[in-house]
Amino acid sequence: MKLSSRIRSVKPSATLSINNKANELKAQGYQVISMAVGEPDFPTPEHICRACIDALKAGKTKYAATNGILPLREVIAKKFQRENHLNYLPQQIVVNTGAKHSVYCIFQILLDPGDEVIIPAPYWVSYPEIVALAGGKPVFVQTREEDNFLMKPEQLEAAITDRTRALIINTPTNPTGQAYSEDEIRSLGAVLRKHPDIAIVSDEIYEHLVYDGFKHVSFAAALPDLYDRVFTVNGYAKTYSMTGWRLGYVACPSLEASDAIKRLQDQSTSGMTTFAQYGGVVALRDDQDCVRRMLENFDERRKYIVQALNELPGVKCPNPRGTFYVFPNISGWGLSSQEAAMRLLEDAYVATVPGSAFGGEGHLRLSFATSMDVIEEAVKRIAEWIPTIKNS
Ligand code: PMP
Ligand code: GLU
Repeated sequence: MKLSSRIRSVKPSATLSINNKANELKAQGYQVISMAVGEPDFPTPEHICRACIDALKAGKTKYAATNGILPLREVIAKKFQRENHLNYLPQQIVVNTGAKHSVYCIFQILLDPGDEVIIPAPYWVSYPEIVALAGGKPVFVQTREEDNFLMKPEQLEAAITDRTRALIINTPTNPTGQAYSEDEIRSLGAVLRKHPDIAIVSDEIYEHLVYDGFKHVSFAAALPDLYDRVFTVNGYAKTYSMTGWRLGYVACPSLEASDAIKRLQDQSTSGMTTFAQYGGVVALRDDQDCVRRMLENFDERRKYIVQALNELPGVKCPNPRGTFYVFPNISGWGLSSQEAAMRLLEDAYVATVPGSAFGGEGHLRLSFATSMDVIEEAVKRIAEWIPTIKNS
């Protein structure tokens, strides 16, 4: 069968593929440790599961509004007000099948063939593919390690052309763990103000996973005059350990945009799973202690892994401001990131993601969303493996 050229050009997700490979090795009996995928190891908090079960029992098993049930869009609007100082009407919000799908929908409604989208690199693996699937052209801006991998205003300015339609900002950032401060966002705003046709997609899915007192500020809150061009994306996967629920959302800058995404869902998914959305209501509405507890755990793991990696030969690991990733520079090993990740997996049974998958050669991404025992064992195996590098 001849497949479309559109799908033939799409790469599989490197993060998910490595995770699959690690799982295959595990199934064959190998003691594989996976630091590859960004998925919290905690169960979804009990009260959230309970709300979903109750909804199922109450018969919430029918089609729902294709932009998300109203009670959910209302709590999301309140969440934006409370946590992000952003005012959205529930009609501006669309609930999607995970935040990945939110990003997918936004580019489907924004792009025409050949439209350019600026993506700071290192970037999350799915952005370029999602842009390409919408007929767009990813334009990468290579950020520098010495700038904490944050895009500078002059780099943004230099990447803008007549065809630039949008910019993606992910803060805190997957895979580098860095994040834009309010001032850093404002300095990008000074450039964007000169180019009124550029939309901004601000993916803030890691907003609660921040450390050492770093304060996450929403892009649209830092730049209120750009409100009518910013799509704010968020989701439940990371904050509430709900990856498998596939629940994400976008706050749109206008009713025209939210209606366009709704129409896209009318003709594709028919909206999110109805009973899962009731879990989403409770997660955002009720006690947020579960978030704080998970964050404390992540913070402890982060402190340990950063220090332990920095003690290894050939490794320089900056402290992340947010997320649950570290992005150490491993160029001291004299291997490409792809070779390093493959050999670590095949020789030491430690799964990591090569920086090259994110446009960040010379680095590996390790997720510390795994237990302390697993992290300690991974570091031990890497330490034992490093002296073997020269032997091949
Ligand atoms: N954005 C970023 C930056 C991510 O790392 C992820 C991870 N999955 C997502 C979006 C998508 O999350 P979801 O599981 O809600 O689709
Ligand atoms: N976003 C996570 C990661 O980067 C989950 C996997 C994926 O969706 O790509 O590992």
